[in-house]
Amino acid sequence: MQEALEQLKSSAVCLIEKASGIDEIENLRVKYLGKKGELTTVLKELGKMPADVRPVMGQLANTIKNQLTELMDGKKSEIETKKLEDEIINQSLDITLPGKAPSPGRIHPITQILGEIRDIFTGLGFEVVDGPEVETEYNNFEALNIPADHPSREMWDSFYFRKGLLLRSHTSPVQVRVMKDRKPPIKIIVPGKTYRRDTVDATHHWMFHQVEGLLVDEKVTFADLKGVLLKFARQMFGETRKISFKPSYFPFTEPSAEMSIDCFVCNGEGCRVCKQSGWIEILGSGMVHPNVLRSAGYDPEKYTGFAFGMGPDRIAMLKYGINDIRLFSDNDLRFLEQF
Ligand SMILES: [Zn+2]
Repeated sequence: MQEALEQLKSSAVCLIEKASGIDEIENLRVKYLGKKGELTTVLKELGKMPADVRPVMGQLANTIKNQLTELMDGKKSEIETKKLEDEIINQSLDITLPGKAPSPGRIHPITQILGEIRDIFTGLGFEVVDGPEVETEYNNFEALNIPADHPSREMWDSFYFRKGLLLRSHTSPVQVRVMKDRKPPIKIIVPGKTYRRDTVDATHHWMFHQVEGLLVDEKVTFADLKGVLLKFARQMFGETRKISFKPSYFPFTEPSAEMSIDCFVCNGEGCRVCKQSGWIEILGSGMVHPNVLRSAGYDPEKYTGFAFGMGPDRIAMLKYGINDIRLFSDNDLRFLEQF
């Protein structure tokens, strides 16, 4: 048997050395080392041999197998190198051709809008604050003057976890956290992701962004709210923008108002973006409800404040003329490359 193995080895080595193509090498691999290959067949005979010779023969066969594998791999890379050299010499491979450069990413349109909003408010002395996306029911509702049986909770049907936790349905709970931790004056904005159980369509999504603003101090009035938001509207949408307030209802502010700007597309003449009204609703706002101040441990007789909240997704859609909110999360480069 030893002889058979040696013979097999020398004929294989001879053929490997003569091989000139990668296919040839692969065929030899099958011929000798494959499942029905010659070396495998010899190894199968091993079982019939006397027990004292078996280990020696087994070891020899394995050594030959390793040697042949090594030879074939070496020959294969030799052939590949040769092929590449020939191509370069024959210029069929142009090594001066520039490679494929990785395309640099772009800043997501919502991140761009968030950046603009942040710049404007930090310019006005506001501080940017962050908060957790998993909130307590208390911070999300009760502390904001929305008790368990309050009908307005239905507007914010949320994703609930056990033990009184949920995915925050607005960024307002961060107000509560900050007010509990600090004493006035407070001047913050809170950008972040929020979640509601909305059915996804062109204008609704279960995840969207919000920027919340809060200012609490002594003698803060509605005029301060108006001044800050006018400044914001003009920096964000153009220096000639007009703003208009319409009474509204939010449980955590009293009085409450929706703020609109005159349409920046048609300058108030009426167009598709403003639905012919000349005005576009941009944000909700109001004076902080005394109950909210009380639950933060502030005396509403001493401190007053205003709060506002806006949707950067909607602002991005208006500003860039995007008609489907789903595009923001589709991660489609054809869309994202346009910004
Ligand atoms: Zn318009």
